[in-house]
Parts: sequence; C-alpha cells; structure tokens
Amino acid sequence: MSKILRRQTPAVMVGHVSLGSRHPVVVQSMTDTPTADVEATVLQTVELAEAGSEMVRWTVNDDAAALGAQEGIRRLRAAGIRTPIIGDFHFNGHELLKRHAGLARALDKYRINPGNVGRGERKDENFAAIIRIAVRYGKAVRIGVNWGSLDRDLLGEKMGGNARLAQPLGIREVIHEAMVESAMVNAAHALELGLSRDKLVLSAKMSGLQDTVEVYVRLAGMCDHVLHLGLTEAGAGDKGVAASAAALAILLEKGIGDTIRVSLTPEPGVPRAREVAVCQDILQSLGFRYFFPDITSCPGCGRTRSVYFQELARDVRAYVTAKMPAWRGQYPGIEGLKIAVMGCVVNGPGESVHADIGISLPGACEDPSAPVYVDGKKLTVLKGERIRDQFIALLEQYIADRFTSHGARDVNA
Ligand code: SF4
Repeated sequence: MSKILRRQTPAVMVGHVSLGSRHPVVVQSMTDTPTADVEATVLQTVELAEAGSEMVRWTVNDDAAALGAQEGIRRLRAAGIRTPIIGDFHFNGHELLKRHAGLARALDKYRINPGNVGRGERKDENFAAIIRIAVRYGKAVRIGVNWGSLDRDLLGEKMGGNARLAQPLGIREVIHEAMVESAMVNAAHALELGLSRDKLVLSAKMSGLQDTVEVYVRLAGMCDHVLHLGLTEAGAGDKGVAASAAALAILLEKGIGDTIRVSLTPEPGVPRAREVAVCQDILQSLGFRYFFPDITSCPGCGRTRSVYFQELARDVRAYVTAKMPAWRGQYPGIEGLKIAVMGCVVNGPGESVHADIGISLPGACEDPSAPVYVDGKKLTVLKGERIRDQFIALLEQYIADRFTSHGARDVNA
C-alpha cells in the first residue's frame, strides 16, 4: 500500500459509503442518460456500479428527471443495489427539491454549483433553500465550483479589485483566487446555515492540468473539508485519460483528495464505465488501492520472436478479466496478485521473479522454451503449442492454493 500521508479530513457518510482520510479514496462516476428515462439510467448505473463505481451521480434538471430519479432509486434499492445516488443540480435545484420531497429524501447527496444557483439576493436564497433541505433530511452536499460556470458576481468583483491594484495579477491568477474563494465562502455559508462538517464535500474543477493542481493545493491548504477531485472536461480518448491521470496523480501523491471522478467525453462504442476503470487504474498505479491483479507485460521489441507473446499477454488479461467477478467472492485478496508475461530473457526472468507468477517467453535466438516462475523460484519450463493453456492452468492452480480464505490478505486494508 502507498505510504503517502493523506491530508486529514473528517468522515462524510454518503449512503453506506464513507469518505475522508480514514477511508480509501472513493471512485465515483456520472451517468449520461436522461434521468427521466428510468430504464436507461438504472441500466447504466448498474453497469457503472458493477464496474466498481462506489457512488453514481445523476442529472436532475426538471420535474421529469426528479420523478425519474425517485423511481430509479426505488428500482435500484428493490434490486438490492445500494450504490449511493447523487443528484446534480443547476439553476433550479432549490425548486425541484422543494417540490419533490420524495427526491430530497431518496438521494444520498446533493451536488450544487454555486455559480448556477442564481445571482445577487436570489443566489443566497436559493443556496440557503437547498442547504436547509439537506440539513432537514440529513444529506451530504458537495459544493462543486467549476471554472466554466464560476460565480460571475464574484469573478467580476475580483477582476475589478485586481484592475485597481498598482501591480495587477494575471487573469489566470485571479481566476484561481476566485475559484478558491467561491468554494470557501460557500462552504462557510453552508456551515452557518446548519450543515455539519461531516456532511460537506468541496470541489473546484478546472480543465487545465496546472490550473487544477494549483487550485486544489490552495484549497487543501485553507481547509480540512473532504475534497472531490477531478479535471473537468478532460476531453476524449487518450488525451482525457492522460490529462486526468496526471492531474489526479499529482494531487493524490500530495495526500490531497478523498474521492475522484474522471470526466471523459463519451465516444461511440466506448462504455461509460471506462471512466470507472481509469479511476481504478490511477489509484492502483499509485498503490492507493487494488482492484484487479497487476499484469506486468513488456512492450516487445526486435527481440520478440513472434506475435505469440502479444497474444499470450492479451489472453491472460482477458482470462483474468472474465474470471474476476467470480474470483472476487471466491478468493479474498485476489486483487493483490501480480502476474508477469514477458517477451524474452532480457527482462523476462527478472520481472517474473518479482511477480507472484510469471512467464518469460523465448525471444529471437533463444531456445523455444518458456520458464515459469512462482513466488520467485523457477517452477517449470513450458514448450510446444500449448504454452498458453498450460500457463493459465498453472495460474488457476496458484490462485486456488494461495487465495483461500485462511491465506488471503486484504490488500486494501
Ligand atoms: S523483455 Fe525482451 S522482448 Fe520484452 S521489451 Fe525487453 S528486451 Fe524486448
């Protein structure tokens, strides 16, 4: 496990899930279905939950969505699915929560964006209405500042004040200040209205990596509230994954962050649950939590003899992926397993020795044999056409021998 010292934050319960520095960093996600479409929203929520999302956020933007959310939560709970559901409110959250008491009761947490609750006195009234409802029903609230909808009154004041300085700050600097101030001022206001510290979560998302890091580091230095981390509008594909991973890793490595979300642009054919997998990969790469056996495989190079190595690496990953739902229940601690599938003698035996179980395939000019290492020692040497099947059989045997309930380790303890 990581030796990073987490920034101390209070415990915040969201449904049955605990946030805060005494608990693992929590993975969350958001549906992209219209919440009024109950069937689609429930289906996607189940997919996200099965992928490992520990909380799921739903858009609640009108009466149809408010009714859909109540029915969706009813169906989830009736099916025994406890995943906490968060309502995402903009512009009319105060009205929807007032009109739909069932919604206010059913949601596990409300997310409000202080830039989108109104302006002037209306803002204060609307904000107060939401917080009072949260207090009445004992719900957690995330005050989620987003630079795309930063409080215009506050930003205007900050810009005006900056312009009057003898040495004005740059615009980015002013925006950073406004982001942090918006989060802090609204958090203080929520506490004055009766929300307790153990019901409050803050976020301050920007789309630039360095901006996000800067704002969160400042925020973390000014309060001990639970922080939700994310790079907003991270983008699509590899760019979104790389930018999110870099931003979140920098902050998590500093001990900042209690729950994370990766906001990827949807792509045709790519499951929504990809954002969950990316969150898990970030936490696992940092050694914060383990969700899936670690499969080390080399990139291959001119020494790789054939595509057999690529196929074996792919097949082992596919096999483990397919088996994990059953293995999780059967073999406690299986997430901590380390497997190596390597392409030649250069690094193959070394990586395999450091794994729990590893295989080093023969590279060019090597004997056509594949030594298998278990717990640091050479167990056997595989040859011929059935190396794949034989290695998978050895893997199954190793798991059955080691991850019995009496020998299991809790890697996420
Ligand atoms: S282990 Fe061998 S095949 Fe794999 S990248 Fe290294 S040198 Fe190339």
